Amino acid sequence: MQQFDTYINQHQSEFLSELKTFCAQPSISATGEGIEAMAGLVREKMAGLGASVQKLEIGPADPPVVYASLGQGERTLLIYNHYDVQPVDPIELWDSPPFEPTEREGKIYGRGVSDNKGNLLYRIQAIRAWQETMGPLPFKINWFIEGSEETGSPNLEPFCLQHGELLKADGCLWEMGGVDEADRPMFTLGAKGLLYVELSVQVMNGDQHSALGTIAPDAVWRLVWALQTLKAPDETILLDGLWDHVAPLSDIDLELLRAIPFEEEKMMANMGISQWAGGVSGFEALKRHLFGPTCTINGIEGGYTGPGQKTVLPARAKAKVSFRLVPNLTPELVTNLLREHLDRRGFSDINIDILGGEHPGKTSATAHVVQAAIAAANEVYPDSPVIYPLTPGTGPVWPVAVAHGTPMVSFGASYPGQNLHAPNENIRLDDYFKALKMMGRFIREFGRK
Ligand SMILES: [Zn+2]
Repeated sequence: MQQFDTYINQHQSEFLSELKTFCAQPSISATGEGIEAMAGLVREKMAGLGASVQKLEIGPADPPVVYASLGQGERTLLIYNHYDVQPVDPIELWDSPPFEPTEREGKIYGRGVSDNKGNLLYRIQAIRAWQETMGPLPFKINWFIEGSEETGSPNLEPFCLQHGELLKADGCLWEMGGVDEADRPMFTLGAKGLLYVELSVQVMNGDQHSALGTIAPDAVWRLVWALQTLKAPDETILLDGLWDHVAPLSDIDLELLRAIPFEEEKMMANMGISQWAGGVSGFEALKRHLFGPTCTINGIEGGYTGPGQKTVLPARAKAKVSFRLVPNLTPELVTNLLREHLDRRGFSDINIDILGGEHPGKTSATAHVVQAAIAAANEVYPDSPVIYPLTPGTGPVWPVAVAHGTPMVSFGASYPGQNLHAPNENIRLDDYFKALKMMGRFIREFGRK
């Protein structure tokens, strides 16, 4: 890998100027600003690697997917990235303009530099360095680069399920990744799913004088009583049947969990709390955090909440409720469980509107793609990778990879101070070049017979 590393060292300034060009191009999926131009830049870069490039339409109003195929060999690697970024507000909190990438103190600042343009570009540059120094790629790559990740990839799932032939692979390299507080590389092998619903109830034609609270119904109480059946004060989720479907942890999951550093004191101090909800701590808290489902009341609305008093008896109330889903819960299953749970308790008047759903997706740590990443990281970083079998967040891991039987792993160029989705988003240059070098080793390892 000597020649590969030398190539990278010699091309540092060229690589950085490419990164700045990527980050100078706005590509905000929430507003559509710059999306087409950014997709064009990505297509150009892919063509530069000798890839055959297609523009895939997900839906009439969705940003296009850039789909690139390159290399040859028995194995196929799927890479998933996204070229869209979050909006820049609050703009006044940026120390340099979000779309004028700026280098300061070994870091590069700009919207999208971490999420996800840096993590897209280091992979492109590593492949170029490989081609220049090591020869042709030892396997085939299908690269799926979407433009609506930051708006929740709303139409991606049906598209992916219909186009399995574009996605089927022996392994998938996921979009993000980086190092933790102690500069240990962090890998993730999956993501939780999500069910997002709005629960609403109407108990009368319209609001009434609260003097009628003696004999007329109150919609907010009605909703609160229904919500109260879903979770106990000790934080146990009470949804009927939910726990019957939660997959037990494997021995490997438990082993990986035990190896994860969990700095709970620091996390709690950051949040201004002195204990976790439900009174759990240590390993139990980590296990619940990474492998537990959630039932969250994201917001509740009804009656009067303005200044002063208004003695109203509310006719309508609604709440946004979300469930993070672990294997083997699915949005459809939990919706059905919720309907039955409410009906069984006499709450058939509570209406359920589904606002969004994503399946959870998880990969085995013994998969070739994961082992290749571990071997690659061990050559570049002083510490062995910390492996998260599942991340507490949600992403389209299931429709892109797991639904087609493709195991995934995620590693990259980010770090905890990246200011994800916030002003002054940044990456450290040192992390960027380490990720580039790791990618070279990953190519070698993934292609190994
Ligand atoms: Zn993001």
